[in-house]
Parts: sequence; C-alpha cells; structure tokens
Amino acid sequence: MSDPMRVLIAGGGVAALEAVLALRALAGDRVAVELLAPGTQFPHRPESVRSPFSGEPAPQISFDRVPITHHRGALAAVAADRREARTTDGGRLSYDRLIVATGARSVEAVHGATLFRGPVSAGAVEGALRDAKGRVVFALPAESAWALPIYELALLAAHERRGGPELMVVTHEPRPLDIFGRTASDAVARLLDRAGIEFLGDTVADSVLGDAVVTHDGRLITADAVIALPRPEPRAIAGLPEGFLEIDEHARVVGVPGVFAAGDGTAGPIKQGGLATQQADAAAERIAAEAGAGNDPRPYRPVLRGLLLTGEAPLYMRKDLTGDDALARPLRYAPPQTSRSPLWWPDEKIVGRYLSGYIAGGRAA
Ligand SMILES: Cc1cc2nc3c(=O)[nH]c(=O)nc-3n(C[C@H](O)[C@H](O)[C@H](O)COP(=O)(O)OP(=O)(O)OC[C@H]3O[C@@H](n4cnc5c(N)ncnc54)[C@H](O)[C@@H]3O)c2cc1C
Repeated sequence: MSDPMRVLIAGGGVAALEAVLALRALAGDRVAVELLAPGTQFPHRPESVRSPFSGEPAPQISFDRVPITHHRGALAAVAADRREARTTDGGRLSYDRLIVATGARSVEAVHGATLFRGPVSAGAVEGALRDAKGRVVFALPAESAWALPIYELALLAAHERRGGPELMVVTHEPRPLDIFGRTASDAVARLLDRAGIEFLGDTVADSVLGDAVVTHDGRLITADAVIALPRPEPRAIAGLPEGFLEIDEHARVVGVPGVFAAGDGTAGPIKQGGLATQQADAAAERIAAEAGAGNDPRPYRPVLRGLLLTGEAPLYMRKDLTGDDALARPLRYAPPQTSRSPLWWPDEKIVGRYLSGYIAGGRAA
C-alpha cells in the first residue's frame, strides 16, 4: 500500500474528535491522523447547564482512548498552496488534507448581563441566581447560535428554586425554541407555563441598566439578575477567508484546496455540537474516499437533535433542516419529532455518529 494520506485536524473539541473517530472507522491505515490542539480533553459544555445548580463541574471528554499523534499548540496560519499549517509558536506542519475545527469565540451580546458560556460561567450564574429575590431574566440574544441552554437554565432554576424569584425568558424568537418547529415549540411552551416561567418573545434584550433590561425597542423590564447567552465570533486564521468559513456539502472550505472545516467556526445561523459532528462526518467521508477507501462520500444534510433538560424527564426534539427544501427533496424530508422518550441512542446531548457511543463508553468506563 502507498504511504498513508496525512490528515491534520486543527482543534480539540467536538468536531475534531468526531473527525478523528470517523476517519479511523472509514479509512483505517489509509490515513495518518494528526491533531493540532492545545490539549486532548475538553469540557462537555452541554452538561454545564447543570453546574450552577449541582455545584459539580461538567465532565471532561478526552481523546485518550484513540491513538493519534498530538501536536500541542494552536493553528495560526495556513499556506494552502504548500499544504502547510503554521502554529502560533512558529512551528510548521505539512499535510495532505487539513480539517479546521477550531470552534468560535463566545462574546458578550447583552451588555452588563451575567454571561453563560458554559463551564467557566457556572459560578457566576450560581451567584446571580442565589442573590436574586425579585425577577430573573434569561435572555437569548438575536445573534446567539444555539438557543437550548437558555431554556434549560430557566427550567432548572424553576425546578431547583421553587418559591424563588419570578423567572422570565426574553428572546427574539416568536415562540419558544422556534427552530424545532411548532410541535416542539408548543411542548416547550407548556413546560414553561407549568414551571411558572413567563415567556416574552419577539423581544431583543440589548443591555442591563441598573435593575432593568433595556430592549432594542426601548422598553425596560425590571430584573435583579439577567443571565444571557453569548454570540459567537469567528477565530482569525491567516491564509483562510475572514469570518466564519463557508463550506460546501462535503465540508470543503470554499476556495481553499485541501482544506475542510467543521463545527462552530463554519458559516451558518445555528452552531451546535450535533451539526458540528455531521460536518466532521462529511469531511471524513470525503477524505476517506480521496484516500482510496472505496466509500461513496455522503454530503452534509443537517439534522438537528436537541435534548432539553427540564429538571424532570427531558424533552427530545428532532428536526431535519433540509425539510425547508422539502418540495425539492421529498424523500429526504422527515417531519419534526418531539418526545419525552429518547429519539436516538445513546441518548447523549451531543449526538454524533461516532462520538455519542464514544462519550457513552467513557461514562461506562
Ligand atoms: C452552555 C452550552 C450548551 C450547549 N448545549 C448543546 C447541546 O445540548 N447539544 C449540542 O449539540 N450542542 C450544544 N452546545 C454547542 C456545542 O457545545 C458546540 O456547538 C460544539 O462544542 C462545537 O464544536 P466545535 O468542535 O466546533 O468547537 P469546540 O467544541 O468549541 O472546540 C474547539 C476546540 O478548538 C480548540 N482551538 C481553538 N483555537 C484553536 C487553534 N487556533 N488551533 C487549534 N485548536 C484551537 C479549542 O481549544 C477547542 O478545544 C452547547 C454550548 C454551550 C455553550
């Protein structure tokens, strides 16, 4: 057999780990996979919504159970014409194919609010909730890339602090968790209602001024704590297009030969772990085919799966995002589904063809 194809994966999170697992499964020895990342474990961010209430940190997910060559460092630049990656400490790594899976930065979107970015924010949110006596507002900014955690925080707060402050969700969405469609949205609305959480839709929280939230249309909503999700910002990597990376249906970065991208660093309104793994799979399938694995690479067809923590039984929601194009692709369209029983297995919050089983296996170990 000829030399294996050198695949460099930059990033050490959800998309990177799914790409590693998919390449091993699909291409085996036809590829030599190397990882360029600051570390080989990352926090299970979706689980971090529990931390302000449990006091427990989110579990870590580790690459330790997959043999890979790890270059400790970070991607600074790409010289695509030479198929070379440059690291922030001046190193150079050559590759045949590069997968950029470096995620996005989370920045403040509602000025003055307590920002919930995942594990690092648990203490601040716990403190804000503990001190609040009157009303707590959970704000979803318009530029937010993934809405679920704001509903989870509100529902878990209602569950854990019965008889506590009033709770209100303020969101640009017209209906709760609108991205999952009408049935899911109605189910979430009922959950909010039963938990006594007020829902204020079509409203964009702009900033916090004293003990009030100022909305884009100039209204003031009194609140003694405001918890908000961030908005994502792209990471700058020299040699690649600016901003979030545009990819085609095989996750190839548009206009940059040999470079693929997956995850929160790619363009698109929804940034979510499940979509990140599906992009990573599309990249891995294409690379495996180019390495001679003989597979027929399937394109990226996003399916959104959300497991909403409620404090009681979770709510499972699934929506085929290609459904918007249902008339053009009737056979691919699956109607949205909503259920209190698992709609996928293992019933992980981050769903990936390879990653879900890997995470579940890690829990069992
Ligand atoms: C509170 C919260 C709850 C969430 N809930 C869910 C959920 O229920 N379900 C779901 O599917 N998704 C959920 N998400 C979203 C999910 O966590 C992200 O979409 C997912 O982590 C994106 O994966 P990624 O690999 O693109 O980025 P990340 O997981 O952020 O990983 C990026 C990695 O790249 C590394 N890196 C950064 N810069 C460089 C560089 N220059 N070179 C090399 N490495 C670099 C970072 O250290 C990091 O390890 C949630 C997110 C949050 C914050």
